Amino acid sequence: MHRKETHSRRAGDPFGWLDEQSERRRAAGLVRTLRPRSADSELLDLASNDYLGLALHPEVTEGAAAAARRWGGGATGSRLVTGTTALHTELERELAEFCGFEAALVLSSGYAANLAAVTALAPHSGLIVSDAGNHASLIDGCRLARATTSVVAHADQDAARKALDGHQGPAVAVTDAVFSVDGDAAPLPQLAEVCGEFGAALLLDDAHGLGVLGDGGRGSAHAAGLAGAPDVVATLTLSKSLGSQGGAVLGPAKVIEHLVNTARTFIFDTGLAPAATGAALAALRLLRREPERAARAREVASALHTQLTAAGLTTVRPDAAVVSVHAPTPDEAVAWAADCRTAGLVVGCFRPPSVPDGISRLRLTARADLTDAQVTDAVRTIVRTAPAGALKG
Ligand code: PMP
Repeated sequence: MHRKETHSRRAGDPFGWLDEQSERRRAAGLVRTLRPRSADSELLDLASNDYLGLALHPEVTEGAAAAARRWGGGATGSRLVTGTTALHTELERELAEFCGFEAALVLSSGYAANLAAVTALAPHSGLIVSDAGNHASLIDGCRLARATTSVVAHADQDAARKALDGHQGPAVAVTDAVFSVDGDAAPLPQLAEVCGEFGAALLLDDAHGLGVLGDGGRGSAHAAGLAGAPDVVATLTLSKSLGSQGGAVLGPAKVIEHLVNTARTFIFDTGLAPAATGAALAALRLLRREPERAARAREVASALHTQLTAAGLTTVRPDAAVVSVHAPTPDEAVAWAADCRTAGLVVGCFRPPSVPDGISRLRLTARADLTDAQVTDAVRTIVRTAPAGALKG
């Protein structure tokens, strides 16, 4: 009865405006759906970000299980209250040491780490210079920060220089170290040089570089000789090469102290779950012991690129472990990915609006645990199912 009365007061459907949007998505072939991941080991997975093949490694899953048994299913509170365990502080110490930074702070995701780092480094009077190809989490960090943001052309240090020139007050250049869509690397040494000219900080998101680039997978900053520099801050995700979940900020100790005291996604968020912390720690220790995994991931990426290019497909030369294959249209990209799946191969599919340049792509991730035969098989499937317009000549 009460419900009915409430209904009768309604002047209209408050969600009516969603129907029009939904219809537009449907007409453009851009509807996204969720599909549970198959546990079927018959499928060859070139879609996940498990670059080193560690997510299901027994030491990593045992790291998660042991941590959950010892500390519980969740962190029980924010990091500043009850959410810091010995595992969190060990992970912070070992991440900082491995990547070559003074200090580290672990957050509940890479997304939260980016929001924390961008907002913390860009006060009111500040300037953020942000690459046009940056990940959504960096873009959202710019939106949340109270500083002025200048979006500059992709991977263009001269554009960054122009944006910084003449600014008074704190400034930070923000970039993905490896861009998540095409897998190309940012010109870090050149950007660091430009930042140095203006006394600006450099913030790099190494979600796709950790475990793949640099000596034994120490990451993009290490590879560029920038690890531990007083003006460089890096963010990480624990959800790709380390096969776990969570994020981190690495940098000078005073920056980390500032984050602990001011970063809202650190202070007001429940700490990273012990299981994820234990898994990341186990994966990091494995990577230290088996540094060849990083080189193998790069080798697999390079083999995918060489073989797909030789077959006539347009692929971007990979700087890390992401290999992007261009598709003619969004619909053909979706159909191509579906045909690959039917043939036993899982690939990622990126299309507008996730890709600002409007180019639809298959996105392949190289994994260190793939054999040469699996790479050849994957290439064969991708080429066989390719739409005619994707093949050159
Ligand atoms: N930065 C980049 C470049 C990413 O690709 C991602 C994950 N897709 C993130 C940040 C966010 O990391 P997380 O998934 O741990 O939130």
